[in-house]
Amino acid sequence: MKVAVLGSGLGGCITALHYYFHGRDHIDEIEIIHDSSTPIQPVGQGTTPDITELVFETLNNHRYPKKNNFLNTTIKIGVEYENWSKENLFHHLSLTNTACHYDPAELSQAVLRSGLFKVNDKVIKQAEEEVDADIIFDCRGRELNDDHKYQTLTNPINSVLLGKKAGHDPSLLWTKCVATPDGWCFVIPNIDSTSYGYLYNNSITDSDIAKSNFKELFDVESSNQLHFKNYLAKSIWTGERTILNGNKFA
Ligand SMILES: Cc1cc2nc3c(=O)[nH]c(=O)nc-3n(C[C@H](O)[C@H](O)[C@H](O)COP(=O)(O)OP(=O)(O)OC[C@H]3O[C@@H](n4cnc5c(N)ncnc54)[C@H](O)[C@@H]3O)c2cc1C
Repeated sequence: MKVAVLGSGLGGCITALHYYFHGRDHIDEIEIIHDSSTPIQPVGQGTTPDITELVFETLNNHRYPKKNNFLNTTIKIGVEYENWSKENLFHHLSLTNTACHYDPAELSQAVLRSGLFKVNDKVIKQAEEEVDADIIFDCRGRELNDDHKYQTLTNPINSVLLGKKAGHDPSLLWTKCVATPDGWCFVIPNIDSTSYGYLYNNSITDSDIAKSNFKELFDVESSNQLHFKNYLAKSIWTGERTILNGNKFA
């Protein structure tokens, strides 16, 4: 059986790794077809233990020795919710089942270079007409989404300001989600910096006010801003042999 995965963002990469590992008795070849001139999403660092285990088993990214942590991951033992209630809440992962934070671009490049997949740099317009595979996973992101095939989801946030503080914080072994006057902010440790994402709704909070609150509360200048729709495909299937995943699905 031949499987094609369209896209090399987190959606495409995790789909490819999943079927490489779990489909190994049935799948002869997995081809990743992606358009290298369309960048992947810069966000999506936090994972659950199953993803960390999948990356460990397939790409052999380890935590020790340092050279074997070529993905530059940091440990995630849970999620801390700060300012959401009188006391901070901590959702602890099982200690036999911890997760990691990744850099999406580094993970994507490692998957493409892993040698586990046939990789094709090509723009796909009509998947089922252009792709030779028994099953196609369409993970081409949200840019090409055809609105009438999606339903809108209610989510109070639709924008994020991204920023980083230089330097590793050795005490931060988890993801932090901090409630703010405008929404919430994620705080994620990297090996040489800390990532911040200040989430808000741009129809409620002016982006200049969000930027100034981001700076005042976290002492971070925003280096990038994203706006996103909140949606779900009406069907995960399309055509005769295509399944949607990643931002193509929701
Ligand atoms: C603020 C924020 C924080 C988030 N945090 C997390 C988190 O901590 N953990 C988490 O798991 N998720 C997180 N997410 C969600 C996560 O970012 C997305 O689920 C993920 O990035 C989606 O990746 P994707 O592969 O679907 O799309 P993309 O990253 O957009 O990739 C699309 C791919 O398709 C390719 N492509 C596009 N058009 C074509 C074409 N015509 N032909 C061929 N290839 C094409 C592109 O080259 C690219 O490789 C977060 C999202 C936001 C907005």
